[in-house]
Amino acid sequence: MILKGNTIGDILKKPAGTPVEAHGWVKTRRDSKGIHFIQLNDGSSFTDLQVVVDEGAVPPEVLAGATTGASLRVSGELVESPAAGQAAELRARAIHVYGTAEPTTYPLQKKGHTMEFLRQIAHLRARSNTFGAVFRVRNVLSNAIHRFFQERGFLYIHTPIITTSDCEGAGAMFQVTTLDLMNLPRNEVGQVEYASDFFAKPAYLTVSGQLEAEVFALAFTNVYTFGPTFRAELSTTPRHLAEFWMVEPEMAFADLDDDRRLAEEFLKYIITAVLDEASEDLAFFNKRIDDTVLSTLEHVATSAFEHIPYSEAIHLLQKAQDQGRQWEFPVHWGADLQSEHERYLTEEVFKKPVVVTDYPKEIKAFYMRVNDDGRTVRAMDVLVPRIGEIIGGSQREERYDVLRDRIREQGLNEEDYWWYLDLRRYGSAPHAGFGLGLERMMMYVTGMKNIRDVIPFARTPGDAEF
Ligand code: ATP
Ligand code: MN
Repeated sequence: MILKGNTIGDILKKPAGTPVEAHGWVKTRRDSKGIHFIQLNDGSSFTDLQVVVDEGAVPPEVLAGATTGASLRVSGELVESPAAGQAAELRARAIHVYGTAEPTTYPLQKKGHTMEFLRQIAHLRARSNTFGAVFRVRNVLSNAIHRFFQERGFLYIHTPIITTSDCEGAGAMFQVTTLDLMNLPRNEVGQVEYASDFFAKPAYLTVSGQLEAEVFALAFTNVYTFGPTFRAELSTTPRHLAEFWMVEPEMAFADLDDDRRLAEEFLKYIITAVLDEASEDLAFFNKRIDDTVLSTLEHVATSAFEHIPYSEAIHLLQKAQDQGRQWEFPVHWGADLQSEHERYLTEEVFKKPVVVTDYPKEIKAFYMRVNDDGRTVRAMDVLVPRIGEIIGGSQREERYDVLRDRIREQGLNEEDYWWYLDLRRYGSAPHAGFGLGLERMMMYVTGMKNIRDVIPFARTPGDAEF
């Protein structure tokens, strides 16, 4: 087992003259007269360890197996690299090949693969430069998320994956059943009898842990969940997945302003963490994927977010239209903001993250707190350049009667929400929270263009291969 201290990332920091044993996979290999160069990587750092093999140093049949993709143990000594500014390289004394990789069929060759192709070899792409960087950044981000909340005393809770309530009150859920689809039990009028299904009623994969997080916020004050969520929306945009990870803090005795401030502090904290702890990987993204990544993140980490009410956003979009801007989706008070609108506000008008609050209640979920005007709710969306919406949140409706009426208004079944309504009958308190899609955040910090390329194995309509 390779413990901390002996990874390639660690070896690269050791001085010339140190005897070492390195393990990893061959990224590339180059042969010239009397000498062979092997780039070895074990996932611990962006930089490969350069292994130099002098002719005759290891038996030719061993060297023959050390081709791109093969897994090796190399022992030898670190020597000063002739290339200026480069880390030491490993002069091999012995090589052990654990597993060869047939060069004519190994799909991950040196360079120039498209993202689409790499998606088809998701079982091997993690060994490439780009995906090595993606998944190290994802790890740093996840760790920073936990740290942010733990440092502030938020309780980490595990909300259920299987649920019988629909958080958004809309469709787009995956059903979970053990009924025999070829032989469904039906009643006299042909409807499916769920009494004999596993949970004795229709069950689904959760779209959000929020409702259950509220239960815990009203007992532990500040909590968060961080787990997988599922949406069966038949959407093939580059920013939607059927399975994605969501971070959802929920705070009792908090209002929308608290929520907005927490979201801003949170985004700045995790961005700073990635800048500090994944600098080598970010430098790669900035050089090869999007040359605005670093400047954007540094800017966002230090500048105050803009805050505008929805009505003001509509006003700005209409003004742009009056000045000749064409919108694909119509802009009027009451319409939901589309990606093109969100990006215009954050990229062109304010050039920084924008928090839009107080949306019309018709376009938002039933649980958002109704404002005194009766037509808007205490919702907030955090919009960032390139991505659009990255966070959605709200102050929750804490008044029993108002919440019950909203549930009815939206045509939802009141009985299904009996325990959620109970929270408003027993010790109700103002509370608020938000949800950040981890993959949207990943796209933001890496500059990767497609959400399928920032999650290990993407689930999208028609595709769950790996
Ligand atoms: P959008 O309008 O972009 O579809 P939404 O309004 O459905 O987003 P919410 O229900 O508010 O999003 O979910 C909270 C957060 O989860 C979003 O801000 C976004 O970061 C993320 N998110 C939502 N849907 C998806 C998805 N299908 N794939 C990946 N992330 C998502
Ligand atoms: Mn959506």
